[in-house]
Amino acid sequence: MDDYDIDNPPPLPTATPMVAIVGRPNVGKSALFNRLAGRTIAIVHDRPGVTRDRLIATCTKAIAPFDIMDTGGIGEKIEDDFYQQVQAEAHLAMDVADLILFVVDGVAGLTPVDLELARILRKTTKPLVLAINKMDSEKRRMHGVDFAKLGFEDSIEVSAAHGVRIDQLVGLLGKRLQLKPAVRSREADRETFIKKQPLKLAIVGRPNAGKSSLVNALAGKQRTIVSDVAGTTRDAIDIPIEHRGRKYQLIDTAGMRRKAKIHDEVETFSSMQATKSIKRADICLLMVDCSNITMQDRKIASIIVEQQKPCILLLNKFDLFHPGMGQKDRVEELMEQAGREFFFMRHAPFVALSAKEGQHLDKVFKAVVQVEEGAANPPGTGVLNRLLQRAIENAPGTTGRSGKSFKLLYATIKKEDKPPRIPVPQIVLFANRADKLQESYLRHLEDVIRTGWPAPGLPFTWEVRGKT
Ligand code: GDP
Repeated sequence: MDDYDIDNPPPLPTATPMVAIVGRPNVGKSALFNRLAGRTIAIVHDRPGVTRDRLIATCTKAIAPFDIMDTGGIGEKIEDDFYQQVQAEAHLAMDVADLILFVVDGVAGLTPVDLELARILRKTTKPLVLAINKMDSEKRRMHGVDFAKLGFEDSIEVSAAHGVRIDQLVGLLGKRLQLKPAVRSREADRETFIKKQPLKLAIVGRPNAGKSSLVNALAGKQRTIVSDVAGTTRDAIDIPIEHRGRKYQLIDTAGMRRKAKIHDEVETFSSMQATKSIKRADICLLMVDCSNITMQDRKIASIIVEQQKPCILLLNKFDLFHPGMGQKDRVEELMEQAGREFFFMRHAPFVALSAKEGQHLDKVFKAVVQVEEGAANPPGTGVLNRLLQRAIENAPGTTGRSGKSFKLLYATIKKEDKPPRIPVPQIVLFANRADKLQESYLRHLEDVIRTGWPAPGLPFTWEVRGKT
């Protein structure tokens, strides 16, 4: 643990690996899916409302967990055309899965659809396992259909309905996925190590917003820890602080301005300085004087959005905001006004405070913890897909001028090899048509995801893949 090199961590699995189950209808994909998911197999028959629930599940029978996806349960149903349907499913599987589990019916033997699927799947470079299903007795095996001619290296005869050789299948999948039990703990080690590092909070905002006052209020006496290194030019001063036993590092752009004795603060200078601090930060605290919100505030906000950084909006000088009004009305009025001024930053928590008076400083840390916790608990792939499928069914989107409806096949949150301390969700949609999906529709989908996963402070990024 101690010699863990933060800049050069050992390779990690990027996510729980995904196994896609592919096969023509009636070969027993759902039964196999349920067996692997460890569910009772009462719901193998499709009923409305059942389909969506069997899209994605986690199999915990191997030495490490992996996800399974029934490609037949998702996306668009192409009426009357098995060929097109299975082709779409095969391509989806090849795109998103780490391993493809190709299921055929050992009793019925090979059909033209199976052969077509095999032809497509042979192109994949991903590991592929052939499961010959419905082989629950020796007698059936005697039929001896020649599945070897499909040309797949790994094959196994199973019976999903009777639970025959499921453990062997799980073992084979685990082997081909190269699952390692130790990997989990290494991931946990890395997380613990990273959590021990102070969270970097950049305090940015235009001159006179109250940044120095906030730094002074937060750092208090701890400020004396700062020692300046002579002769170095930096864009900001980093101040280590502790709050409720947790370590933070304030990136203080205001302090630097004082040091540099720049009295006439040229706007470009401040925004350059701010950009550098924003890039280094785990979370940006954008400070504004709420009694006087200006263009320059929105400009700094837009840099944070461009840099796709987690953000909290600090509405400072709350004591000066309509002091004559009742407290409840003041808060409401402020939140409403800030929501309008920073309409492109609605994902950020808004905190009203008074740095000078030392009021509501605790709320700043509360918001920081919320952002951190939201980022640490993204929804699972199954939940994400269910949320989006439901939203799309309720309000179908259209693509471009063609007006064709948008069909979601599969959605996932991208996992990075070396995620930043506060990972920003990158949502990947696999769709029937990727082109010209309207921005406003993505914003609608974002709102929907946020009903299930509020993710305060985290900007969403989108990638839509599919035919154009
Ligand atoms: P900076 O340029 O962003 O670092 O801003 P300063 O911290 O130097 O604050 C600018 C001015 O605003 C100073 O006169 C502060 O005393 C005042 N100020 C800061 N915070 C507050 C606040 O919450 N309420 C009021 N009334 N004044 C504040």
